[in-house]
Amino acid sequence: MSEDCIFCSIVDGDIPARTVHETDGALAFLDANPLAPGHTLVIPKTHHGQIGDLPADLAGEVFDVVTELTPRIRSAVDADAANVGINDGEAAGQEVPHVHVHVVPRFEGDGGAPIHAVAGDRPDLSDGEIDAIADAIRSA
Ligand code: 5GP
Ligand code: ZN
Repeated sequence: MSEDCIFCSIVDGDIPARTVHETDGALAFLDANPLAPGHTLVIPKTHHGQIGDLPADLAGEVFDVVTELTPRIRSAVDADAANVGINDGEAAGQEVPHVHVHVVPRFEGDGGAPIHAVAGDRPDLSDGEIDAIADAIRSA
């Protein structure tokens, strides 16, 4: 529990939410300002800011809920597809500092875009630069 965290308050029942699924460690509820019908957030019940802060077992539990729930959400709202994503950090658009996975149902012709549309201008990287990035990630 973190003071002043909206999602911790939802877990504690202090703020109402439309819960659609729950496990010991994870909670799924409808987004209050949905991007599409059925837009759902899946969170760990304990407070963790970003995905790198999640213990592995809890990350697994959250992702298990995402994988189980996404087809059910799609079916419930008769969606053609879904985008599943996390805004991990403020610069990526994270506003609520409690890890949450967005499941956004998608419909043919809905005017939306793929995950590829979230980034800014594409970088023009040489093969050497890409190799160096791969090395940096491997050794980070
Ligand atoms: P973020 O930008 O942090 O990735 O997304 C936060 C999401 O939480 C937004 O889509 C927003 O609509 C949703 N949200 C913010 N406050 C509440 C709330 O009190 N209840 C629910 N159900 N969703 C919320
Ligand atoms: Zn929290």
